[in-house]
Amino acid sequence: MVRLHRKEHRDNPEYYTPIYKMALSQFDAAADKLALDPNLRKRFTDPKRAIMVNIPIRMDDTTVEVFHGYRVHHDTTLGPSKGGIRFHPDVSLGEVSALAMWMTWKCALMGLPFGGAKGGVRCDPHALSRNELQRLTRRYTAEIIPFIGPDVDVPAPDVGTNEQVMAWMMDTYSQLKGYSIPEIVTGKPISIGGSLGRVEATGRGVVYCILEAMRHLGMTPDGKTVVIQGFGNVGSHTAHTLSEKGCKIIAVSDVHSGLYNPNGLDITALQKHVQKHLYLKGFSEASEINNHDLLELPCDVLVPAALSEQITEENAERISCTILAEAANGPTTPTADQIVKDRGIFLIPDILANAGGVTVSYFEWVQGLQHFFWKEEEINERLRDIVTLAFGKVLQISLSEKVDMRMAAMMLSIRKIADAKLARGLFP
Ligand code: GLU
Repeated sequence: MVRLHRKEHRDNPEYYTPIYKMALSQFDAAADKLALDPNLRKRFTDPKRAIMVNIPIRMDDTTVEVFHGYRVHHDTTLGPSKGGIRFHPDVSLGEVSALAMWMTWKCALMGLPFGGAKGGVRCDPHALSRNELQRLTRRYTAEIIPFIGPDVDVPAPDVGTNEQVMAWMMDTYSQLKGYSIPEIVTGKPISIGGSLGRVEATGRGVVYCILEAMRHLGMTPDGKTVVIQGFGNVGSHTAHTLSEKGCKIIAVSDVHSGLYNPNGLDITALQKHVQKHLYLKGFSEASEINNHDLLELPCDVLVPAALSEQITEENAERISCTILAEAANGPTTPTADQIVKDRGIFLIPDILANAGGVTVSYFEWVQGLQHFFWKEEEINERLRDIVTLAFGKVLQISLSEKVDMRMAAMMLSIRKIADAKLARGLFP
């Protein structure tokens, strides 16, 4: 008798959205290549657990608004789950589930003792007052409290959240438990147990990967042209660090506009401008460019550092770079992936390129649990070692198996967790 327990599985309506399909197709391709045991394969396909919460908030005008929030644990084989919290109008169960799956691969790839998670609230944080944002963060934290904990699941910042949001999460969790528990989140302010170097970590990791890719391709950073989509925490620190290494940042963008200067932008001046005016608009030493045209500018290194699904079958033929470094999560769709590969562009996949953030989050968690804090040089050195080592392993697989860097990174991650699952066995 055929048992169809999973008959409708791949039509699961809750989280089986386009972005989840994208994460799944990357997994499927790597699982095929690894000839992964079908029993294990089933266990990776779905998130381990997911919570959906309604978050009622009193707005400043005294009306009550209800927001929708999520927290998804994709896998917890290697340790507590880890991953950011996103505040954005497009947040959905499918998006958060895809991002949680990517966290699983990312943590395993870096050799961190974490599983993968992600959370989010569907809202526009820029349309909320500071007080509304604080109430939303605190009530969301209270709603997901059975799901998080320093040994259970450790949130961090992501798109639309920052150090302040983490501080409110830490305070809410601590108030409800009755004592201070800084280890509940990472990416929090230094004053409450945050780690030196965490804010810059994702950008630094992106740069270490780009430098390794250049070394492999026989290039030097000096005078190389770079285009960066996004000028938030990740984009701006990537720009800053790359310009320190001698690269010429010729274009950057944010949600509202883009800036282009073929002679190179003054990143320090630009960071000051953004600190003052919040957005890039109004910076005088550049011409304007839209996000669409920016991605197609000829350059040595293209860094999508904003949202997912930016390089698609529509524009993949026209992007014009030697190295594509995915600082954002999921910026390249599977169809575009194939085009990028066929065109011989060297891809640094998201789970490797942007893993510097979660790596220093791991350092922050360890420092918090030990109540013993490290020097910034120590943190940056360990970060560089971990990122460079992971890059080297991925490159080695890519060369020996004749696959692109995404496939190589996925193969390495999946194999690690598969081995751990086999060693632990299946309960009961
Ligand atoms: N949100 C970041 C990411 O996507 C950081 C996660 C963390 O530090 O836990 O990797």
